[in-house]
Amino acid sequence: MGTTTDQLGATTDQDVESVDVLIVGAGISGIGCAYYLRRDHPEKSYAILEARAASGGTWDLFKYPGIRSDSDLQTFGFAFKPWTSERAMAQGPEILSYIREAASENGIDKKIRTHHKVLSAAWSSADNRWLVTVERTDTGQRFQISAGWLFAATGYYRYDAGYTPELPGLDRFKGRLVHPQQWPEDLDYAGKRVVVIGSGATAVTLIPAIAPTAGRVTMLQRSPSYIMSLPSKDAIANLLLKLFGPVRGYDLARRKNIFQQTAVYKLCQRYPVRARAVIRWLTAKQLPEGYPVDEHFRPKYDPWDQRLCAVPDGDLFKAIRDGNADVVTDTIETFTETGIRLNSGRELEADIVVTATGLKLLAFGGMEFTVDGEPVELPQRLAFRGLMLSGMPNFTYLIGYTNASWTLKVELVCEHFCRMLSYMDEHGYDVCVPELPYPNMTIAPLLDFSAGYVQRALDDFPKQGVYEPWRLAMSFHDDRRNLADGPIEDRSLRFSSSAAAATAADAPGTPATATAADAAALEAAP
Ligand SMILES: Cc1cc2nc3c(=O)[nH]c(=O)nc-3n(C[C@H](O)[C@H](O)[C@H](O)COP(=O)(O)OP(=O)(O)OC[C@H]3O[C@@H](n4cnc5c(N)ncnc54)[C@H](O)[C@@H]3O)c2cc1C
Repeated sequence: MGTTTDQLGATTDQDVESVDVLIVGAGISGIGCAYYLRRDHPEKSYAILEARAASGGTWDLFKYPGIRSDSDLQTFGFAFKPWTSERAMAQGPEILSYIREAASENGIDKKIRTHHKVLSAAWSSADNRWLVTVERTDTGQRFQISAGWLFAATGYYRYDAGYTPELPGLDRFKGRLVHPQQWPEDLDYAGKRVVVIGSGATAVTLIPAIAPTAGRVTMLQRSPSYIMSLPSKDAIANLLLKLFGPVRGYDLARRKNIFQQTAVYKLCQRYPVRARAVIRWLTAKQLPEGYPVDEHFRPKYDPWDQRLCAVPDGDLFKAIRDGNADVVTDTIETFTETGIRLNSGRELEADIVVTATGLKLLAFGGMEFTVDGEPVELPQRLAFRGLMLSGMPNFTYLIGYTNASWTLKVELVCEHFCRMLSYMDEHGYDVCVPELPYPNMTIAPLLDFSAGYVQRALDDFPKQGVYEPWRLAMSFHDDRRNLADGPIEDRSLRFSSSAAAATAADAPGTPATATAADAAALEAAP
């Protein structure tokens, strides 16, 4: 059986291609993973499979007017690629160019195979490899790839459709219904009456972007969210760039913003009453005299129990002040031919209704897994260090922060993953699997986040334990301690090697698999 190397550096064994690491997803996480893998393990072959026609993930998919980050790019950007634009909160197309530039500057773009959707992955302990079934989304052709390690950088939601709740009487509505995830590029909203249902990041981004052109925009929300105005340009970060140049300046700005984000999050969690009061005061200052702030901008939950929405330079409040947009806090009784009737009896006339009602969460891009022929029930698996799953050999995933920039975790997870590969190479291991030390460990949902779209889907996701390393840290500093500086070995990690298994078969008494502690003890033995 001969092996050959294809133009992407992967080896082909008969008709099943084989790579050391298979990355699923070419969004910011998959490209980040490829960067660190290439930097720390240039000897390893890898490929990135991407279901869509292009790279960029979220930043290629969403096309609604005004699409932007609500994180600053000093922390949302990669640690290895300075963000040098003046704007801290950036527009979607700028972010997409930045991600693609990172890929092309590092030769990663050549490793991305678009139109490749991973349907399933089967682990075989006989081969110590994943056999991955892939479907070409352009031709429908199916084939398999073998991988030593599987890295899921698949994001956390469905790409084919967003979430739309039951909308009573919708079939009566004669206007246009649009979900921001499938924004029609030709949608003409000039002079039209638009109702945006929702109060999350998408609604507050979209409304100020269309308000100057649309006839009238109403944000219809069931309940208010926290909305904070932040400067679109970070004067200190820009000064640091000027003083210290792109590399050092960006690094300093990134540290500053990590500190700032952590401090704000912790203060909100520790002093929720005072945090509420401060946010209310800041909000009221931006609204017209006599505006019913509490009715529309005073949430029932505490700050950061759900992700806080940021609006650059208070653009949403400006649209309200200018009279181009308004907020209605009410519930829908029914759609009518010409709009929406609310339970208060009020009617909202609408030509266009936008359902900014969220995402449909999906674990690991819908991939189905088996381990030695046994289907993996994800809700029965536990997150290990927030990057692997119990009982899943050679499998890593990336789920970023919900209380800080998602991407801050890319660097930590990927560097840890690369250190793990180095550790395994040094010790001659080819398999690593987290195993629960106590079968009856107390478990909790993977994400402690009360947003409706998260709660709706958590039952389908893996769980977490209540203490490290089985707890998902939602803190950059904890993760840095554990992932960047912490040891690879752990008593919950079982490493093994096929070479040892072969030797064990020849020399009974030598374990083919061993925990890291066992391995150390074996090495120390005379
Ligand atoms: C509108 C919007 C704005 C956001 N703004 C922010 C923000 O400001 N700050 C922040 O921190 N976070 C933000 N987020 C969260 C955001 O999704 C992440 O920050 C980040 O972009 C996720 O990157 P990712 O690469 O992990 O996932 P994604 O961007 O979702 O990319 C995943 C990729 O994997 C591919 N894929 C999935 N399943 C498969 C499969 N089975 N086979 C092959 N390919 C597959 C997808 O097609 C996609 O290209 C935002 C999210 C949305 C929807």
